[in-house]
Amino acid sequence: MNKIIGLLLFTFTLISCKTSEVEIFVENGLLIENAQIISPDDQTISPDSFIVVDGDSILYVGKDEPNLKGSFATIDAAGKYIIPGLIDSHVHVTGTDALSDDEELDNPEIVKNFKEQLPKSYLYFGYTTLIDLGTAKPERLTDFQKAVIGPDLYYAGGGAVIGNGYGLSNWNDDIPNFIYQENEDYPIPEKYLKENHTPKAVAQRIASSGAIVLKTYYEPGFDPTQPRFPTPSKTLMANLKMEAHKNNLVLAVHGNSLEAHDFLGNAQVDVIAHGLWNWGNHRLDSTGVIPEAIKDVLDTEIKNKVGYMPTLQVINGLRELTDSNYLNDPELEHVLPNELIAYYKANSNTMYANVFGNAPKNIISNNFNRISNQGKVSMKYMNDHGGHLLFGTDTPSSPTFGNPPGYNGYLEMLEMENAGIPLGNILAMATIENAKAFNLEKLYGTVEEGKKANLLILNKNPLQDIMAYNDIEQVIINGKSLNRKNLSAKNVDE
Ligand SMILES: [Zn+2]
Repeated sequence: MNKIIGLLLFTFTLISCKTSEVEIFVENGLLIENAQIISPDDQTISPDSFIVVDGDSILYVGKDEPNLKGSFATIDAAGKYIIPGLIDSHVHVTGTDALSDDEELDNPEIVKNFKEQLPKSYLYFGYTTLIDLGTAKPERLTDFQKAVIGPDLYYAGGGAVIGNGYGLSNWNDDIPNFIYQENEDYPIPEKYLKENHTPKAVAQRIASSGAIVLKTYYEPGFDPTQPRFPTPSKTLMANLKMEAHKNNLVLAVHGNSLEAHDFLGNAQVDVIAHGLWNWGNHRLDSTGVIPEAIKDVLDTEIKNKVGYMPTLQVINGLRELTDSNYLNDPELEHVLPNELIAYYKANSNTMYANVFGNAPKNIISNNFNRISNQGKVSMKYMNDHGGHLLFGTDTPSSPTFGNPPGYNGYLEMLEMENAGIPLGNILAMATIENAKAFNLEKLYGTVEEGKKANLLILNKNPLQDIMAYNDIEQVIINGKSLNRKNLSAKNVDE
């Protein structure tokens, strides 16, 4: 019997047997009994529930014990908690963690092992759906996509960087979807046709590649002593938004400074892909009070319902370069191959120097702690005033070993809790809020009939204990149930 007939029968039996038992036929099924299902929408728990999965989707969720026919396995979830799989809406899966392109070429064995482990590392920490928000070269996503077991991956179809702006230095990189904005200082090189680099042409190309997001950038630069990168004008951003929406793409924009957030909040973009941690001339002092200028910008984002990804781990991950002990964290052994950890240990000083030169470690560490705290204060303000927080980590964001795949999401959650974000909000952000913001709520974000069977079985209640996200019993991905320990990098090495 094919799946459609099964579904029809299922619908029929549901109607005909409402008062007795629910009869369901499954071909390749999974029955979860005694489930305590947590709703990320309203944070209620439905005890003693049943979940029926067939193939990769959820067929039934309810209190009535279904009469299951066909071929299926059973999981007794007594005492456990079931939540939908987590969504990280800002990752980059195309590289080898913190290795540069040259280092990748020099270390093919490490690259091979890392790429095999990468999808499992995300699953190990419960991330069953990822959105890659970068990737000038979408063909590099295929390594990740061809893994037999891995999270569902969505992408941005190649960054729509602003012609000769951030991410496109001196036209030297091959970025097929750059946007050209008239600029006397940066005339478009002869090898490109202007009409191929308008918002309209780029949005169409990105949509036809299968992407769900148009990612662009507002980044004047990080070093005030250097000339500014060109940034998009208001008109260009409005056009980008219009063309993105015409093509059913979500407009997500890189920006983390006061200037960028001011611009992007007023431009009413869909999502700002970073938190506001760079406060310009303002600084977080010992009073911990948020400056009025920061509040004003965040208030505009709240009023305009702009999605906001705190991405706290971007700053923390850079700070970890100052900490020689970080690489001894035993959690790393679950998400990174041994050889890569050993490589980092041998090269940690060089990696530090590549990013921070010979600046003293304690000064860098203090600075990054302050910037990180600014990010947390901005995030808390958004949370407390009805802002639209989304869960995205930007893993890995910089050449640092401080953004390990999967584990980085858990670290981001710990930081959120630390900053006073309620556990229910953290769960909602990483599930239903992300699903809605990226037009994926038909498939993800809650445990409901018709959605993808991407589920986590947790030993603890994540509404009471953040450590529940590091106490996962089983990960169900596309209907397939996996023991967490089999996803660990340690397990592969044995
Ligand atoms: Zn990013």
